Amino acid sequence: MTHYFTEFSYLVASILFILGMKSLSHPDTARRGMQMAEVGMLLAIIGTLLNREIVSYQWIVAGLIIGSLIGGAIAQLVPMTALPQQTALSHAFGAFAACLVGIAEYHRHGADLGEFKLVAINIEVLLGALTTTGSLVASAKLQEILPGGPMTFRGQNVFNLSILAIALGAFGYLCAFPGAAVAFYLMLAVAFVFGFMLVMPIAAADMPVVMSLLNSYAGLAAAATGFAIDNNVLIIAGTLNGFSGFMLSVLMCKAMNRSITNVIFGAFGSGGSEGAIVNGGEMREVGLEDAATQMAYARQVVFVPGYGMATAQAQHVVSELSDVLEQKGVTVKFAVHPVAGRMPGHMNVLLAEANVPYEQLYELEQINPDFPNTDVSIVIGANDVVNPDARDNPASPIAGMPILEVDRSRSVIVLKRGKGKGFSGLENPLFFKENTGMLYGDAKDSLAKLVIAVRQA
Ligand code: NAP
Repeated sequence: MTHYFTEFSYLVASILFILGMKSLSHPDTARRGMQMAEVGMLLAIIGTLLNREIVSYQWIVAGLIIGSLIGGAIAQLVPMTALPQQTALSHAFGAFAACLVGIAEYHRHGADLGEFKLVAINIEVLLGALTTTGSLVASAKLQEILPGGPMTFRGQNVFNLSILAIALGAFGYLCAFPGAAVAFYLMLAVAFVFGFMLVMPIAAADMPVVMSLLNSYAGLAAAATGFAIDNNVLIIAGTLNGFSGFMLSVLMCKAMNRSITNVIFGAFGSGGSEGAIVNGGEMREVGLEDAATQMAYARQVVFVPGYGMATAQAQHVVSELSDVLEQKGVTVKFAVHPVAGRMPGHMNVLLAEANVPYEQLYELEQINPDFPNTDVSIVIGANDVVNPDARDNPASPIAGMPILEVDRSRSVIVLKRGKGKGFSGLENPLFFKENTGMLYGDAKDSLAKLVIAVRQA
């Protein structure tokens, strides 16, 4: 009887995962999607806990309590800006768990596993181990525990390919001689080293793409675990995770107009500003009063948030400024670039947190034709996603990356602290255009002052 309940709970959980994932594709339904996935996960856990093979609940309960306490504390304490490194850490734990299950299964059954399960366990351990160390390095780079730049040495590719060959060789040997425990542990050890070596040469700024790739490996490792221990929900959830992670990486690369191989081998983020089309060479500063007047008397204002809005935690004050402008009869829109910030959906999450209505959020294709009708575009800590060189300068490293064409609006006001570059390290000709005014200062401070000034205008 309990067996049927377990299978039924897995079926419902799988349906909830699929529906939850579908709902995550739109900001309106994203919250509900998360809730569906949470209920699915709870059901899967309950179903698993009813498994008759469980002889004692002591360790499980202890694990649940400790895990929930740590998870709860992390959720409370980690600031929004540190979410990417926290996600990388969660991947590392998930992948390590999959890896441990594989080790335990091999340790218990060894050569008796049978060909199919042995292959599944090998895949699980290989992907699990490299994802564990890869994700730990990604997290450490993002947290600046390790240097953020690419860490390279002579012959790195040859070395990496050699250790990958050793791991794959051990994999093949195990298939021929399943009882060869030495080959199993050699493959495990080498996979841990390979994960580390794979991520070290990649710059911190590229970590979100790498993480979503590692996420995909962790999902595939979980699916392999499902095959190894005959668990349907793991097969379904792991496959969903594996493929959605991969698609996300592809989409992120597409939005940055880069290939995955370029991200992994290209050491981006360390470039200069060669070839940027910079007219005149002078940036024009705009005063607070001037900026406030332009906004208060505009028909349409478009806010363009970027990474700087996230670091300044300026989302609430932008929302307040938007309300003030609307009270004055100004039409306010928010233009959201798919790779603004440092993780997919970064701006959507922040603006939703500040209760900006979804109807005010416009995607790239929707808002670009509207910029010529816009009186003032306010760029809040965004840089690369509004760089016109991507459109105008075929020699630019970001040529072809879709951008928000703010330069086509009548006036542009850029809020940033100084002359700092964006993620790509490139100069931005937008800042030198005649219709652009720079309002220097921390985005949150500048916006707070603008709220007061616009009220008085
Ligand atoms: P960006 O190009 O990184 O530029 C951010 C700008 O914000 C900087 O020029 C900085 O200038 C300014 N800034 C930083 N802190 C600030 C503060 N407290 N107040 C005001 N301004 C501040 O950001 P973006 O335009 O959002 O572009 C995102 C980049 O990340 C793209 O190149 C994208 O390809 C890349 N990326 C995104 C993802 C993703 O999933 N979203 C993943 C990987 C890579 P100052 O120092 O002068 O203030």
